[in-house]
Amino acid sequence: MAALASNIGALLHDPKYADLEIRCGGKSFKVHRAIVCSRSKVLDRECSGGFLEADTRIVNHAVFDVDTLERMLEFIYRGRYSIKLTSNAEDSSRGTRWCRFEPTWHIEQDEGNPNEPNIYHAISFMGPFQSKSFEELRLEDYVQDSSSSIDVLEQHVHVYAIADYYELPDLEALALQYFQAGKSSLLPICNDQLIRILEAIYSNTPVSDECLRYEILDFCIDEKKTLLKDGWFVQAVVDNPELQDFTAEFMLGLTHRHQEDLEYEQKSHVEVVKTLQDDIQRLSQQLGSAQSEVTAAAEQLKPVEENLAWYKAETERLSQHLQISQATVVAAQNSIGNKIAAQLAEFDAIRFCRHCGEDFEFYIERYGGGYVARCDDCTTRHFSKTEVP
Ligand SMILES: [Zn+2]
Repeated sequence: MAALASNIGALLHDPKYADLEIRCGGKSFKVHRAIVCSRSKVLDRECSGGFLEADTRIVNHAVFDVDTLERMLEFIYRGRYSIKLTSNAEDSSRGTRWCRFEPTWHIEQDEGNPNEPNIYHAISFMGPFQSKSFEELRLEDYVQDSSSSIDVLEQHVHVYAIADYYELPDLEALALQYFQAGKSSLLPICNDQLIRILEAIYSNTPVSDECLRYEILDFCIDEKKTLLKDGWFVQAVVDNPELQDFTAEFMLGLTHRHQEDLEYEQKSHVEVVKTLQDDIQRLSQQLGSAQSEVTAAAEQLKPVEENLAWYKAETERLSQHLQISQATVVAAQNSIGNKIAAQLAEFDAIRFCRHCGEDFEFYIERYGGGYVARCDDCTTRHFSKTEVP
């Protein structure tokens, strides 16, 4: 299939079996009816109807410029189209440069954002394509130059329009896709450039167009703050007879967008209020349950507090009782101590044993609550008069 496509592509500049001549802007294109008429019903009608000069088989094309027509033919033969870039002074050393625009399935994914096809991956830069084949050419660095980007954007508009004119939906979709990808080059807004693109769109597309016109309308409505602030732009658009449709659609679009914004805002406000109400309800519920918990805890705490009071009083009472008991014990101890001391003094006072009559040497022995003294010689017990309980 690739070889077949390549062979058909090679026929673009090969007049050998060409059987139709399309003349445009002083240039003549020798093409093959089998190829071009099978793609475009409009060309088919032109070739079989009264437009064709029967003997010469010539179609005179006067609607679009020669470059745009050439791009359409390139697309019919090769499935893509090329745009010559305007080189600025710094780039002049590179010679003539071309952008090649191919269908989406050639577009690689941008590494940074896998959902967004990156247009620049699909653009190949070339020297004059008469000297090199497309296949030899590789992606080079892309110098983003505002004026050349606008030129390219305008060329996409023309390609879109000629595709619409000749009923080539594939080409129309491709040009629209590249317009969508490239429309950001209109930012930041430059009035002259925007009006140029608006004129290109509104003077080349039919009133029934719902794609490219919607695309630029959406863009302008998105940028309404910048555009409406600028009296010059509004006046220039209103005064431009080619932009009457745009003016009307723009005003209508602004009204719709304003309405949508208002509805969205109202909806957001309602949602915010509802969220707040929900929050308040939730918080008051939480507050209510917290209060019940506090009340329940206080109820549980009441007997504990009562117990605590009782324990305190009891502790106080016991503590007093203990003090009294301690005092009693001390007093009792003192009293016993004194009595024992008195007993010992009595034993010390005995001179002779009451039984053996020897000098009274004695030892002490427990007896009842106090003591008795036993004679060392005969162990006879000697009692004191002092009673110990
Ligand atoms: Zn004795």
